[in-house]
Amino acid sequence: MNKPYVYITRTLPEEIVEPFRETFTVKMWGSKEQPVDREVLLEEAGKADALITMLSDQVDEELLSKGENVKVIANLAVGFDNIDIKAAEKKGVTITNTPDVLTETTADLTFGLLMATARRLMEANEYVQNGDWKNWAPLLMAGHDIHHKTIGIVGMGRIGEAVAHRAKGFHMNILYHNRSRKQDAEEKLGAVYASLDELVTQADFVVCLAPLTPETKGMFNKEIFKKMKSSAIFVNASRGDNANEEDLYEALVEGEIAAAGLDVFENEPISEDHPLLSLQQVVALPHIGSASVETRKAMMNLCLENVQLVLNEKEPKTKVTS
Ligand code: NAP
Repeated sequence: MNKPYVYITRTLPEEIVEPFRETFTVKMWGSKEQPVDREVLLEEAGKADALITMLSDQVDEELLSKGENVKVIANLAVGFDNIDIKAAEKKGVTITNTPDVLTETTADLTFGLLMATARRLMEANEYVQNGDWKNWAPLLMAGHDIHHKTIGIVGMGRIGEAVAHRAKGFHMNILYHNRSRKQDAEEKLGAVYASLDELVTQADFVVCLAPLTPETKGMFNKEIFKKMKSSAIFVNASRGDNANEEDLYEALVEGEIAAAGLDVFENEPISEDHPLLSLQQVVALPHIGSASVETRKAMMNLCLENVQLVLNEKEPKTKVTS
């Protein structure tokens, strides 16, 4: 009997894939960094029983109809805004993601980005490396305090709550905004529920960790930035499209907010001449929230396990539903 055919849209480490080669025929796109060509993906989908996709791959009606035999698509991310879930459900294709295994790692990065932005770490590092450090000065590279300040978390889910744990360790006041209240986070962390308006007017750090949905797309816009404190720091570690970058740039240039720490952008990779990158008060990272070796390996394993389960007609560990 032919083994099921699994196509993976990036080259993953052989040590991760190898144990699964006994049960599947695995083919991978030949690059660790370059996304798969759309034409190749469509052609491979036509032959595959399962796909493992990255957040840069659009899983839409076109791809789903090419993949006549595809039973499962395992997305190597917790976010699934690159996938038309309803269209997949209509075609009976199971979609899986990678929640939980990346929560703590992404929270580490988010809090690290908050700290780097507040305390101007990148700018200070560049200053030393450029040989500009000639003297100690009372206000040299002076930034903003983090401890005892107010953090406002928009999207208090798994990662948001893990960030709140870190904030509690820094004696911060914690505000959060979700569509629904999280009683357990309120009890455990002393987090206080706020409307979006209340949160953005009161927080010293506004941290976006809500998924990208039609409702959250562009939610951080001109009006919202105007409501923030002029000393506020905006941190986005969810999806770039949740913030309007033109409005963010204007808010930073006009001094409506003080700084921004961004792991995600409207268009990734961001172009090097993007106006936001010209601002010293912006810390920009290349979407590395979950990028620790341990966590990325755990995410890859989870994708392969989910594929194996579905191809064996079992329930996957982490199925996404609309
Ligand atoms: P999660 O557990 O589903 O948390 C998302 C939270 O957002 C939920 O508590 C949800 O609460 C809230 N939410 C949803 N819609 C909202 C809205 N319209 N307004 C306000 N809050 C809303 O997901 P997670 O595992 O924490 O991951 C969160 C996101 O982080 C992912 O979707 C992904 O985009 C991003 N992420 C980024 C990286 C990176 O590398 N930078 C890594 C991992 C994840 P309600 O349903 O009650 O509203």
